[in-house]
Amino acid sequence: ENLDKGLEKSKTSFMSKMSKAVAGKSKVDEEVLDDLEDVLISSDLGVATTIKVINRIEERVARDKYLGTEELNKILREEIAGLLSETETGEAANIQLPDVKPYVIMVVGVNGVGKTTTIGKLAHQFKSAGKKVVLGAADTFRAAAIDQLQIWADRTDVPIVRQKMGSDPASVAFDTVQSAVKQDADVVLIDTAGRLHNKVNLMNELSKVKRVMQKVIPNAPHEVLLVLDGSTGQNAFEQAKQFTAATEVTSLAVTKLDGTAKGGVVIGISDQFQIPVKYIGVGEGIEDLQVFNKYEFVDSFFK
Ligand code: GDP
Repeated sequence: ENLDKGLEKSKTSFMSKMSKAVAGKSKVDEEVLDDLEDVLISSDLGVATTIKVINRIEERVARDKYLGTEELNKILREEIAGLLSETETGEAANIQLPDVKPYVIMVVGVNGVGKTTTIGKLAHQFKSAGKKVVLGAADTFRAAAIDQLQIWADRTDVPIVRQKMGSDPASVAFDTVQSAVKQDADVVLIDTAGRLHNKVNLMNELSKVKRVMQKVIPNAPHEVLLVLDGSTGQNAFEQAKQFTAATEVTSLAVTKLDGTAKGGVVIGISDQFQIPVKYIGVGEGIEDLQVFNKYEFVDSFFK
């Protein structure tokens, strides 16, 4: 129900556009397909994913000779569920962690997308699940970033490792994992700089952070979580492109889906980058982070 509320705008807008596209039509023809293409594009699935969906529906129409518009929703829903990447287990990702201790999550993404908020919400969820959490303030470029993370550390009552602004992010990351090992922590969340300067700098910075952490924990980070703002549509695609080129992103968090009609961005990005969406942000509050479940997501999109 929370998810329904969170995605209110996306689903109303998607379903109302869908009804317009098929209004007065009993079968799926060229015109309906054209309109459907517009609906998918304007719902931010992205061009490549839209074309893929349209082609599949065209194939169905060609094969079955006839497709009624009342069946279109059902078929579209199946196609879209098929596009959303699954996690390795084939089930929805959950807050349970693999048997690695401490489990290190490096969080990446540009400023303003909701990176710090997502880290805070995750710290809260892990802590509520009985896990011992440590935060690392490795976004040392802006004083505000360190202060914001400190606020979340206080709010969730979780220890934070920080240095002064301008210090080496890799050094903060090193201190953080070292402290986590010493404290016998379960999970480490490392904030990283959100400047999208240029690809080479970004790549160098992130690989240095990784390399230095690996001196303490050989396989760290176990997860690289890219945070994207779901309300920015095509910008989110562009950021996904840049970050996946700069580092190996293993999971996604898509934020601000409460305030947008662009929930389709989740479908397009998951399809195009073949990275599972693990979390979605549906508000500014501490509880407003949900573990992504593709079936619930698709259900609520089509409701
Ligand atoms: P950062 O610069 O990426 O660390 O971004 P912040 O975490 O500081 O978030 C930027 C703004 O987005 C803040 O005002 C947050 O409250 C807001 N925000 C973050 N996640 C969400 C979300 O899921 N929904 C909404 N509505 N706002 C969010």
